[in-house]
Amino acid sequence: MKVAVFGLGYVGSVTAACLAANGHDVWGVDVDTAKVDPITMGRSPVVEPGLDELMAAGVAAGRLHATTDPRAALDRADVSLICVGTPSTASGSTDLTYIRRAVQDIAAAARTVAPPASGFHSIVIRSTVPPGTVDTVVGPVLAEQPPGDGFDFGTAMCPEFLREGSGLADFFAPPFVVVGTADPRVGSALTELFGFLPKPVQVVDVRTAEALKYACNAFHATKVSFANEMGRIFRFYAVDSREVMRLFCQDTSLNISPYYLRPGFAFGGSCLPKDLRSVLHLARMNDTDLPLLAGTLASNELIVRDVVDRVVAGPGREVALLGLSFKTATDDLRESPSVELAERLIGKGYNVRIYDSIVNPSRLVGANKRHVQSKLPHLQRVLTDDPVEALRGADLALVSTTDSQVVDALLEHPPGRTIDLSGRLGADVEALPGYEGVGW
Ligand code: NAD
Repeated sequence: MKVAVFGLGYVGSVTAACLAANGHDVWGVDVDTAKVDPITMGRSPVVEPGLDELMAAGVAAGRLHATTDPRAALDRADVSLICVGTPSTASGSTDLTYIRRAVQDIAAAARTVAPPASGFHSIVIRSTVPPGTVDTVVGPVLAEQPPGDGFDFGTAMCPEFLREGSGLADFFAPPFVVVGTADPRVGSALTELFGFLPKPVQVVDVRTAEALKYACNAFHATKVSFANEMGRIFRFYAVDSREVMRLFCQDTSLNISPYYLRPGFAFGGSCLPKDLRSVLHLARMNDTDLPLLAGTLASNELIVRDVVDRVVAGPGREVALLGLSFKTATDDLRESPSVELAERLIGKGYNVRIYDSIVNPSRLVGANKRHVQSKLPHLQRVLTDDPVEALRGADLALVSTTDSQVVDALLEHPPGRTIDLSGRLGADVEALPGYEGVGW
């Protein structure tokens, strides 16, 4: 099939490269040349393990292309997958500007290019959008901008479940493949496109598919806050809540996976906080209280404050912050709790030096370099290229990454005190004098 992928960020890049690897003719489109240019040279525009290699193979095989021109992508294309951002607005609602714009771009391009052989083109949202978006945003745009002769459109929602840092593995082994559509032609097209995945394609009502991703992210966030609250209270009783959670997951009546149930630091990143805010905004719009989910967000916000309080309660003003992105193996800094932690400590007059194996001065490129320069210039000044440099003279290390270079540096140059925000630094680091867990 010829597939156009709109938006080449974390989701779009992985989607484009994986579909090209599966033999499709894939055209990625982005308005940002910092995303398009690396792909045309066979490199990934985002940091994701294995993605550079997959992109290089796709480009070399002539199956993966990137462009800023929607017409090149739409020409004879069977499917458009929309993977643009859906950020929070100040009120917590979901900003659908990029979705609307992408649909307008597709509709405009379809008036000037050749239709696919079947004459039918599926427009599929993979971004996370509130229930009703396909009906109330996508539908009206297509009604205003009908396609040219021989082109017919159908629409669907097909949520994406990959996680940054394990994006390729997650793409090829999703928890489920759900297509929300009322149009059987789109259902068939996507069953063909995703038929190679190990899970069957389940065709459901559009709004069910739109709501599903919010249910998943709200539950993941609630699991993190639950485990963190267990850790925060039982720590006062010298309990290792990691062990409590390990046993807890063995309760077969719960039938619950251990993912997201490790006591430790706050959740962050570009999805969980944003999607929780979005659900809470939907509740406000409908005069409905959701105290459980409101509490999940509030509980998460307390974690950074707790860690700051623990730093302030101890001696020393020199802090090494090891790990800046919201988790290991990604360069995504959006809503990273480590960024928040750094800012609060700097605001309190601490001397903070930061090391992150991916977000470091010698590796920052493209869109992420622009993000650091424009949004975090105060942190850029204290970013180092070397974990040992960050630890030099440090009274305290705050560690939110499991990166092996960081673990080695800690073992060779242990500071007086180490607070393990990751919960997974291993027995050698846990044996260091001055080691502290967050929830144990
Ligand atoms: P991102 O910000 O990394 O990438 C979005 C890209 O869309 C940007 O490169 C931007 O330039 C581009 N774009 C904006 N308007 C465009 C247009 N009209 N045409 C072409 N490109 C355009 O976003 P992301 O992290 O990949 O997330 C995308 C969506 O997927 C969001 O709705 C998010 O909630 C959802 N999602 C994200 C993840 C994740 O782990 N990041 C996982 C599952 C779902």
